[in-house]
Amino acid sequence: MTIMKSEIASRSTEEEALPVTLADVEKAAARISGRVTRTPLVYSGTLSERTGQPIHLKLETRQPIGAFKLRGAMNAILSLDETARKRGLVAASTGNHGRAVAYAARELGVSATICMSSLVPANKVEAIRLLGAEIHIVGRAQDDAQEEAERLTASRGLTPIPAFDDGDVVAGQGTIGLEIVEALPDLATVLVPLSGGGLAGGIAVAVKALKPEALVIGISMERGAAMHAAIAAGKPVAIREEETLADSLGGGIGLSNHVTFGLCRDLLDDIVLLTEDEIAEGIRHAARQEDITVEGAGAVGIAAILADKIALSGPTAVIISGGNIDPILHQKIVAEAAI
Ligand SMILES: *Cc1c(COP(=O)(O)O)cnc(C)c1O
Repeated sequence: MTIMKSEIASRSTEEEALPVTLADVEKAAARISGRVTRTPLVYSGTLSERTGQPIHLKLETRQPIGAFKLRGAMNAILSLDETARKRGLVAASTGNHGRAVAYAARELGVSATICMSSLVPANKVEAIRLLGAEIHIVGRAQDDAQEEAERLTASRGLTPIPAFDDGDVVAGQGTIGLEIVEALPDLATVLVPLSGGGLAGGIAVAVKALKPEALVIGISMERGAAMHAAIAAGKPVAIREEETLADSLGGGIGLSNHVTFGLCRDLLDDIVLLTEDEIAEGIRHAARQEDITVEGAGAVGIAAILADKIALSGPTAVIISGGNIDPILHQKIVAEAAI
């Protein structure tokens, strides 16, 4: 199920201009400084012992919304002009992006409307409601939520904040890459949860510019890995959205994707896919051994290591992208015996 590194690398051309640059990421870092958390990068004794390589966990679970998405949303919203911001914001989301937009909107004193499908877990919907955003639940797939956001953009003149396919959003997520290279100057590999590719694309822009020899590996679930399917097909393709423990990784990349598809195709060294059991094992290890509550999407880096799906050599950073898992589901997964 893996796309070989050589297969991806052969398509990249060094000279081709990227839609997001290191300079964009550095500007984003300055813009969002003080409004998002500079998250800790903690050494994992258990994973390091298991792999024989130094493994560090980048805890985006420590953002005020419990996930990295605040970086991109904050950068995009701060980059808007005053009139666009004042019209009110609208976003389609699998949960965490909506929460990021709702949080940033409240901080900046503007209104936000968040569109989600019925696949979004109740704990995520509730958190967005508590931030004071208007909520629209439509359909059973992220595409339905996206359509609703587009409808509201047209009918109410709201300003859309894309979840991933946007240069400012990608640059904001890329600030994680800056922080990792600064903390780990001899970085060899970064493991990044991958859905629409804003996170992986942004981190890859920063890491590849600063440490060209470092590997950036995307990780998705087998159930509906949209970016993996797109890269394999050579263009964005429609995928069937399925229920998965990694609910934040659900949804397509957009058939008219214009930023993240090219970035991920050209910059990622590999994409690894995981089963539901493997993701559960990642959640369980995080809780039992690392003492962190991690949602499915946030656990895929740990899960890929535990499943021996990645050959590591040298200092490795694992992006723990979010922790917003339903507490009852979390309890249930952690209580199960290890596979
Ligand atoms: C959105 C999200 C991702 C995936 O980010 P993309 O930019 O869509 O690839 C991973 N983990 C969590 C927790 C998320 O909320």
